[in-house]
Amino acid sequence: MVRVLKPVELIVVASEKGRVTVKYPYQEPLVTSDFRGAIRIDASKCIGCGACVKACPPNALELLESPERLVIRYFVGRCIFCWRCVDVCPVKAVVGTREFELATDRVEDLFNYTVHRRAECRECGSGFATRRMVEYVTEKSAVSEYYANECPECRKAKILNAVARRRGGV
Ligand code: SF4
Ligand code: SF4
Repeated sequence: MVRVLKPVELIVVASEKGRVTVKYPYQEPLVTSDFRGAIRIDASKCIGCGACVKACPPNALELLESPERLVIRYFVGRCIFCWRCVDVCPVKAVVGTREFELATDRVEDLFNYTVHRRAECRECGSGFATRRMVEYVTEKSAVSEYYANECPECRKAKILNAVARRRGGV
């Protein structure tokens, strides 16, 4: 059973323990080296694969898509500082920081945007994936630039045509 201390007992305990608080914000707060704070996305490294968005439990990271652009939006107000995004990023573009002083009177300060241009399909001209992702795939895999610059729909249509031709004996 929990026993409530009498005021005089509290004074004794407090004097034994000594000071356990700091005069924050006038003094540096006690932040341990493994403390997890807000994340940052290094736009120069990000390829726009979306892995961090899929891994984010509270949807603090979102993909905003248009035919020309793909944007990764980070809303720190929803972030639970779990750093799953740090773990899944294939190019180490997400950096975990120890930042926790995030209060602001400007709502736009709570958002961060990483903007990517879409790759254009060399067959139909439609936007797909991101330019950075196409570069990454051609650099890191055996896929040639020729095929990497084709959108999934055109690639699929070509394969189906090839199968149909073969079945038709053409
Ligand atoms: S730290 Fe966690 S909650 Fe915050 S953006 Fe990354 S995955 Fe989402
Ligand atoms: S996982 Fe990394 S590379 Fe992929 S979109 Fe997120 S930050 Fe960019």
